[in-house]
Amino acid sequence: MAPILWLEAAGLPLMLARPETERPPRDPNVSTVITEECINCGACERECPNHAIYVGGQAWELDGKDYPALAEDIYYIAPEKCTECVGFFEREQCAVKCPVDCCVPDPNIPEREPELIERARRLHPGLSFDGDFPSRFRT
Ligand code: SF4
Ligand code: SF4
Repeated sequence: MAPILWLEAAGLPLMLARPETERPPRDPNVSTVITEECINCGACERECPNHAIYVGGQAWELDGKDYPALAEDIYYIAPEKCTECVGFFEREQCAVKCPVDCCVPDPNIPEREPELIERARRLHPGLSFDGDFPSRFRT
């Protein structure tokens, strides 16, 4: 039995990220949201290429302007800064790193690759995303 599954079976706290190969495939056309299951470990915040993840209660920032926090007690994603990792990775790094699998698809918010890569270009004007950039839509 894989260590992570053994921990689950034993009812022990999960502090290890589940291997990516054990994660179910997801719909690429919807956004990612953090659920109430968040244990505030901070692992996702460090991995986000767009600095789109904030600790609860902290204002999020874009173009030098601060906006009200979207959650108070758990980490949250600022949708205007999230590209679903398009342009940087083939999978959402928050979901990959989260030890409790609480970075999940939100079926209420559709996402498409053209809009997401344009968002990446706006957020990172010094980077080029031409050609075969990493994207979950291409795996
Ligand atoms: S999906 Fe990627 S870009 Fe969006 S919040 Fe998670 S790590 Fe950041
Ligand atoms: S969303 Fe997951 S990785 Fe991010 S702080 Fe919460 S528990 Fe940790």
